[in-house]
Amino acid sequence: MYKAKAYAATSATSPLAPHTIERREPTPTDVRIEILFCGVCHSDLHLVRDEWKAAMPAVYPLVPGHEIVGSVTAVGPGVKRYRTGELVGVGCQVDSDGTCPDCLAGHEQLCANAVLTYNAPDKHTGGVTYGGYSESVVVDERFVVRIPESLDPAGAAPLLCAGITTYAPLRRQRVGRGTRVGIVGLGGLGHMGVKLAHAMGAEVHVLTTSAHKREDAHRLGADAVIVTRDPGQMSRHAGTLDVIIDTVSAAHDLNPYLELLSHHGHLTLVGIPEQPFVIPAFSLLSGERSISGSVNGGLPETQEMLDFCGEHGITADVEIIPIQRVNEAFERLVKADVKYRFVIDMASLKA
Ligand code: NAP
Ligand code: ZN
Repeated sequence: MYKAKAYAATSATSPLAPHTIERREPTPTDVRIEILFCGVCHSDLHLVRDEWKAAMPAVYPLVPGHEIVGSVTAVGPGVKRYRTGELVGVGCQVDSDGTCPDCLAGHEQLCANAVLTYNAPDKHTGGVTYGGYSESVVVDERFVVRIPESLDPAGAAPLLCAGITTYAPLRRQRVGRGTRVGIVGLGGLGHMGVKLAHAMGAEVHVLTTSAHKREDAHRLGADAVIVTRDPGQMSRHAGTLDVIIDTVSAAHDLNPYLELLSHHGHLTLVGIPEQPFVIPAFSLLSGERSISGSVNGGLPETQEMLDFCGEHGITADVEIIPIQRVNEAFERLVKADVKYRFVIDMASLKA
C-alpha cells in the first residue's frame, strides 16, 4: 500500500477537504495512473450529500470522481495493453466479474459484481473504493481505456462519464440522420448529448429551463432550443420528437416532456433525481410512447465513444478549476450554473 493525496467528504454536510488515502501497489494486471484531470459529475454531488441513500448509501470518508484522465506511471508484469507514459482514462467502474453474460457481452456496467470507481466495496483493501479527486489511482487494465492523442486531456475527462452516458442511449435508439432528438438539461451530460447527437447527424432540440443558454446550445450543435418554462414553446413542439434523453438532476414533472414525443417516441432517463417520478398511464398510452433508463456504458462502447470523439474532434466545454474550488463548483452545479463541465486540474492537489 502507498499513501496518496485526495479530497474527501467526511459527512453528508461537510465540504470536501484534503485527505490522505491508501492505494494498493499494482498487482500483476494493474495500471498505476497519475491523475492529470478529473471531471466533476453531478453524481459526485448526489453521493457526497447522500442524496441516493435509499439505493446507494454514502460511506465516509468519500473520495468522489469518475471522469479520470491521467498518465500511466507503472504497470504490473501481466499488463498487456498499456505502457508507462501513455494517456489513459478511467470511468465509472473499476472491476466486474468478467464471466457473467453481461460482462461477456461487453456490458460490464450491468454486471451484478461490478465495482464502482468510488464508494463501493474494494476487494483489494477491504474498505471502499476511492475516486479520482486524488493524485493517483490503481486500476485493473481491463477497466482502463485509451484517450485519442488528438483530444485535449482536460476536455476528454468528461467523456468518461458524461460522454458515454449520453452516447450509449443515442446509439441504442439508432439516432442518425433524420432522427429528431431532444436533450433535456444543458449541463455536463446534456451538452455532451448535444455534441454527440449532432455528430451522429440528428436534428437536435435542446430542452432547457435556462433561456440564457440558447446561444450556447446553438454553438454546441442544437438546431432548435425550447425553453421548457414557456408553455407556448412546449405546445408548439408537441408530438415532434422521436427520442428524448433526460439528463435532469433535480425533481421534475416528466409529463410535459412525454407530450413532446411522436407516436412510438422514446424517452431515456439518465438523470437520477433523489425523488421518484409520477407517470400517468395516459401520457404513455396516447402515442404508445415508452420510457427506459440507461447507466453509463460498458468498456467496448466507452472505447468506441472515445474513438468517435477522436474522429469528430469532440471534447467537453470545460471550466478548469483547482481542487481547492471544488466546493464552490458543487454549489454552482445545484444552481445549473456550469459551462458545461467543471474539470479539476490535479496539479493543484500537489501545490
Ligand atoms: P449538471 O451538469 O448539473 O446538469 C443538470 C442540468 O439539469 C442543469 O444544468 C439544468 O439544465 C437541468 N436542471 C437542473 N434542475 C432542473 C429542474 N429542476 N428542472 C429541469 N431541469 C433542471 O448534471 P450532470 O452532471 O449532467 O448530471 C445530470 C444527472 O445525471 C445527475 O442526476 C447525475 O447523477 C446523473 N448521471 C447519471 C448517469 C447514468 O449513468 N445514468 C451518469 C452520470 C450522471 P438547464 O439549465 O438547461 O435546464
Ligand atoms: Zn458521472
